Amino acid sequence: MEEKRISHMEYWPEMEVLKESDVMDQVIEAMNDYDYSKYKAADVKRALQKENRGPEEFRALLSPAAEPFLEEMAHLAAIETKKHFGNSVCLFTPLYISNYCENYCIYCGFNCHNKIRRARLDIDQIEKEMKAIADTGLEEILILTGESRKKSDVAYIGEACKLAGKYFRMVGIEVYPMNSEDYAYLHQCGADYVTVFQETYNADKYETLHLAGHKRVFPYRFNAQERALKGGMRGVAFAALLGLDDFRKDAFATGMHAYLLQRKYPHAEISFSCPRLRPIVNHADINPKDVHERQLLQVMCAYRLFMPFAGMTISTREREGFRDHVIGLAATKISAGVSTGIGSHSDDSSQQGDDQFEIADGRNVEEMVRAIKARGLQPVMNDYVYI
Ligand code: SF4
Repeated sequence: MEEKRISHMEYWPEMEVLKESDVMDQVIEAMNDYDYSKYKAADVKRALQKENRGPEEFRALLSPAAEPFLEEMAHLAAIETKKHFGNSVCLFTPLYISNYCENYCIYCGFNCHNKIRRARLDIDQIEKEMKAIADTGLEEILILTGESRKKSDVAYIGEACKLAGKYFRMVGIEVYPMNSEDYAYLHQCGADYVTVFQETYNADKYETLHLAGHKRVFPYRFNAQERALKGGMRGVAFAALLGLDDFRKDAFATGMHAYLLQRKYPHAEISFSCPRLRPIVNHADINPKDVHERQLLQVMCAYRLFMPFAGMTISTREREGFRDHVIGLAATKISAGVSTGIGSHSDDSSQQGDDQFEIADGRNVEEMVRAIKARGLQPVMNDYVYI
């Protein structure tokens, strides 16, 4: 399909510009300068021996030279995780309330040209879903939509957040990037955690993957976490979709993005997600081979050793055995009872919209709790108290 490709670096008129922020420039410059091939075993050893690790150690730990040291990295990562999070592993589930999307991301099942069943839950249906999720014992929810401002406007997401406050103690959102006043409104409605995946930090590659829609505007997406913090959100989560581009550079940029915002906003709770591409409806061949579990584990351990206090989520994109292995080691949060379709929590047979991607671990909450305990860890439904 012929698309009119507009500039991916220019803001649209309604998009808020953070004129005073140079975080994006700093991250892109650092990423462009990062030549992981120049790191040697001695650099990795030095990085492992350091107590407080900075960007230079992070560079070494993400390099191919660190791969033979993966066991040592994992051992040190587990020590750091225990130091900052004890035995706790938080549980949550995502709730997709709409899969309409105006963007054309060529790797995603929800993209506006993919012929899938679209659905948008109304408030009663959302409540039914939330009730069913709350009945499983979960106290944390992540509300997701496809990125359509028309079908899922801020008011609609706000109503979902208010409703979530009735059933859950912690409400996060993973929706389209918005201006800080919109984040402030959603914060008032009860959301206090915002997740935005930059997908890839390579702006040239980004341009070839995001062909239409507001998501095409790279800098607006990049600055979403900062706008969310300005809007009063307590925490923000970062991720690159590993496998879209050079995963070492993308992981490095993700870490630097989080690190620089943490320095600028010391009160912010920072966390990482570590998604790899999964096959999607009608495009099952999209499943890159270059980021294997070993490399994913390396990235997770490098994040942990660079930012020991940051949260880390492992999603159902990964298989059971891998997920069980990384909790307590680097990951601090894990999803359970997951469906990436629309409307299937309350009644499996009534799913109205197709899945965003195939999940690799379909365990329910009870099974996940058992798996966490079997690792000698403690399942935690909520780790935050509002006064
Ligand atoms: S990745 Fe997000 S924005 Fe892109 S098509 Fe999928 S749902 Fe829409």
